[in-house]
Amino acid sequence: MRNTRVFFLVWGSSESLVQVIDLRIMMKCEITRDIQAAANLIQEGELVAFATETVYGLGANALNPEAVAQIFAVKQRPHFDPLIVHIYSTHQLAELTSEISSTAARLADVFWPGPLTLVLPKKKVVPDLVTSGLDSVAIRIPAHPVARKLLESTQLPIAAPSANKFGRLSPTCANDVAEQLGDEIKLILDGGPCTVGVESTVIQCVGDLPVLLRPGGISLEEIQDCVGEVRLAEIEDYAESNSPVSPGMLPKHYAPSTRLMIVDHPDQLPETGAIGVLSLFPLEVTEFRDCHFSAQQILSPTGDLKIAAANFFAALRKLDASGIDQIVALRLPEKGLGRTINNRLERAAAS
Ligand code: AMP
Ligand code: MG
Repeated sequence: MRNTRVFFLVWGSSESLVQVIDLRIMMKCEITRDIQAAANLIQEGELVAFATETVYGLGANALNPEAVAQIFAVKQRPHFDPLIVHIYSTHQLAELTSEISSTAARLADVFWPGPLTLVLPKKKVVPDLVTSGLDSVAIRIPAHPVARKLLESTQLPIAAPSANKFGRLSPTCANDVAEQLGDEIKLILDGGPCTVGVESTVIQCVGDLPVLLRPGGISLEEIQDCVGEVRLAEIEDYAESNSPVSPGMLPKHYAPSTRLMIVDHPDQLPETGAIGVLSLFPLEVTEFRDCHFSAQQILSPTGDLKIAAANFFAALRKLDASGIDQIVALRLPEKGLGRTINNRLERAAAS
């Protein structure tokens, strides 16, 4: 179903003889499991939101600049923030990239399909709009069967950032997408809740040393186990560099509407205001001294960081909707996917 706009002409006041009333009837876009319908839209140059194991993506034919332009328009994403191109098979790599280093090949071999994005030298066929004019392209083979079938059905590389408005919380189920973009896209390809729940790890493989551009669904430790030394890119690299390597890694991102602060210990919780607490483990009320909190979200009762990542964005959404003054997040252990979640929290808290 589409958005329909109905215009009524009515006789108005003396200043305007005729007034136009725009009654916008918002009909929700279709949430479906029909992969062929989604594939047809992509082939026609339209946008489709679709399930992946990381977060839901907003996809378009990566080789069609007009289709890709719609992604930036719908998301209100700045053009300096390049997109990840999704493929279903390593056979498609040769079309998009001119060089696959031995490190990149090893990472691809171990982690694809999965939540790992490799930044590789690009070929001309990839539109500049996709890469924000960079001479590299970010590529991923997702593991989610729905994403893979969509990619296979279209026989096209699909450029897809997360299916949310720029800077806001990433969607981890079809309804999350509908809430933010339901009146702007035609179809959401439902594949259930995302099992990884945070975005992919982005590794640049263009020089001698692989560079971690963004922590994500594959932990730094797993990457190091696979390829040895990895350079960690810091936000300052981008802020101070004239030619940023990963321009989309902005300090503020992934933000709920409610103010968010991070604390290292429950003692640091603010003592006034309606507070919603986000923590890895359940916290005993006594740990909070006299402090009352209005809402609480626990990421994993057993402290499992993978489960925590899968629950992370949904938990933030729930806190955001609970009418509190402030979200207070307890920093997670800086290891495994805890590092990824802390990275998202830092950006959500940035002002
Ligand atoms: P998102 O679309 O929000 O998942 O973000 C994609 C991430 O990959 C952003 O941080 C981009 O800056 C980064 N990225 C995409 N393409 C490139 C590229 N060619 N070089 C470096 N970073 C990239
Ligand atoms: Mg995003």
